[in-house]
Amino acid sequence: MNWNRLIFALALSVSCIVQAAEIKVASQEEYQAALLNLEPGDTMVLANGEWRDFEIRFTGVGTPDQPITLRAETKGQVVISGESNLRLSGEHLLVTGLVFRNGHTPTNEVIAFRISNDELANHSRVTEVVIDHYNNPERFERDYWVIMYGRHNRFDHNYLVGKSNAGVTMAVRLNSPESQENYHRIDHNYFGHRPILGSNGGETLRIGTSKYSLTVSGTTVENNFFERCNGEVEIISSKSGSNVFRGNVFLESRGTLTLRHGNDNLIENNIFLGNSKGHTGGIRVINKRQTVRNNYLSGLTGHRFGGGLVIMNGVPDSPINRYHQVEDSRVENNTIIDVHHIELAAGSDQERSAVPVRTTFSGNLIVNTEKRDSIAVHDDISGIAFSGNIADGVAKLPSDSGFEQRGVKLAQADNGLLHPEASSLASVGVARDLKVLQRSDTGPSWYPKPDYSEVFDSGNVLQVPPGQDTLTEALEKAGAGDVLQLQGGDYTVSKLLVTDRAITVRGPAEGPPPTIQFERTTLFELADGGSLKLERLAIDGTLAPDAYGNSVVRTSRYSMLSNYQLVVSGVDVTNLNTNHSFNFLKVSKHTFARSIEISNSSFSDVSGHVIALDREIDDLGIYNAEYINVLNSSFTNIGGAAVNIYRGGTDESTFGPQVVLKGSRLENVGANKRNKTRSSVFLLGVQRTRIDDNEFIDSKPVKVVHTVGDPVTKIGSNRLESTPSASVVDISEYLR
Ligand code: CA
Repeated sequence: MNWNRLIFALALSVSCIVQAAEIKVASQEEYQAALLNLEPGDTMVLANGEWRDFEIRFTGVGTPDQPITLRAETKGQVVISGESNLRLSGEHLLVTGLVFRNGHTPTNEVIAFRISNDELANHSRVTEVVIDHYNNPERFERDYWVIMYGRHNRFDHNYLVGKSNAGVTMAVRLNSPESQENYHRIDHNYFGHRPILGSNGGETLRIGTSKYSLTVSGTTVENNFFERCNGEVEIISSKSGSNVFRGNVFLESRGTLTLRHGNDNLIENNIFLGNSKGHTGGIRVINKRQTVRNNYLSGLTGHRFGGGLVIMNGVPDSPINRYHQVEDSRVENNTIIDVHHIELAAGSDQERSAVPVRTTFSGNLIVNTEKRDSIAVHDDISGIAFSGNIADGVAKLPSDSGFEQRGVKLAQADNGLLHPEASSLASVGVARDLKVLQRSDTGPSWYPKPDYSEVFDSGNVLQVPPGQDTLTEALEKAGAGDVLQLQGGDYTVSKLLVTDRAITVRGPAEGPPPTIQFERTTLFELADGGSLKLERLAIDGTLAPDAYGNSVVRTSRYSMLSNYQLVVSGVDVTNLNTNHSFNFLKVSKHTFARSIEISNSSFSDVSGHVIALDREIDDLGIYNAEYINVLNSSFTNIGGAAVNIYRGGTDESTFGPQVVLKGSRLENVGANKRNKTRSSVFLLGVQRTRIDDNEFIDSKPVKVVHTVGDPVTKIGSNRLESTPSASVVDISEYLR
């Protein structure tokens, strides 16, 4: 080859790059070098493999026809891990195919449509990107997964699952003029499980903040699938104007789509399916000129602000961050089936006294398959005009006119939705052609969606013979969902049994239960990811060290991201008294149980508490467990409380804790002088309590302290013998 030919060849290749180059990079250095030369139409390709600690700054100016692209060599095979993030600035950028996993962002967000305050992204798109459990290990270290800034950006076909630390999963910010009237599109995303946070700050999507809420955002949230988005009371918090929420599915998600601040928003063609799961909600309306039409709401159990359909009262001349009055709003042609609570003029109190005005409620279909008093009126609703609504099975209608109460026979359409059979009702409720978005239409097609099957007993059964540390050895081999099957006989454990997965330890169905004794300060420790089910066992604390603060089960001493489950069934626990403050369950700050279920079990001679969920003492509305159920069990000679729960603070963003104590016997419970609760059952800040059909003998009283919200406490028929009666008091009285 002569020199001329070589120069000609180089020039040719350079001109090719200018037209549209594809540049593959395999290291962060190569990425940085290549970034400087990107032209419109160019594509940067990240080589397959793991990219650790990679703070991606993706900048450039493309054109509508020739965007600048950053993509994975193979979609799904580029994993961004460690302390990594993605920030974009410029015009017409496109990012696709990346997976964020095994790490967390070192900054405030995993994906930001800006690099700095004045370097924003516009007309840019992030599509088919995965963020999978990419959490800061400290539960209450707050960050976001996605924040959209700039204007005319699109976020679509992405997968966001398992955000477990504090902070909204995704937000749209309007904090400068360059990010207002943004007309972003958020579509076809899969917003999967967001576990209960047990605090404010667990929203899945927020658009705006109260400060800029009278500004137009114009964001469209369309055809997204929200599944088990259970972080807190708001699934979506709309805090700006002229947003559209259309064609989304909310499946078994706790909380509501809330028009919290801002005007002129539209909610249409959405489907809310609660499947009767606890605290599933629908739509909450606040502010002016809101339209809620053609939505299908079914099987929603939530109440109060978390109800199926909620129209709020406002605050007269409301400050920007409180509640603006509902004015000129429309709720029409919605189908509402087996929705437990519709709340009108909700939140009415001395402060929230401005009732809804010039608002219409028309053409809605409300059917309860079991008759139910499902519509609650909390204030004057003469400002809501009712017309053309059909109701069946509603015990009490909110208005004498505007409703026809009649039998409605429903038939199921091919897409699973129920519609009235009668053709005379064709114009009531949702349109018959309402489309049902499928899970598979959302997220990237190449990344599997989570399997939400039960965690326990799904794996293998491992036989464990009696003896010293046979249990320890078996646990080391056990995988998630496995069962350790014990025989009759004695088991001694000389090491901590630490599990970061769901494990069942089970005695035989027949004969006396196996006895487990342990020589360390605890028998089981739940590490992050761990859950434990104990069945048909005898646990004896005699061999535990002569030191205070022992336990049978404890959580990690550090913050846990995963919510654990503890099931104790048919277990006899005794001799937890080698020293003081020996608990059955002992938890640490910033750990959270999704559920604790104790049944058909006995606890005797315990120096501390049986279930102690009292480590969140900062009064920030944070707590240690959601559901605590104690059924048909006995507690005898317990120094502390059988159940001790503390949830302080006035924040109203959570549904729990919730406690049931039923069919149980408590004798000589709570008398130890170290028991500061001075009660046999101490429940502070619990939102739902049911204490029924129990016996209390020679015990300290039950104490329930209400702190915030509308706590429901039902103390039914219990037999008391030499035990003071239960007290239910407000926090102010308690602190007095
Ligand atoms: Ca909130």
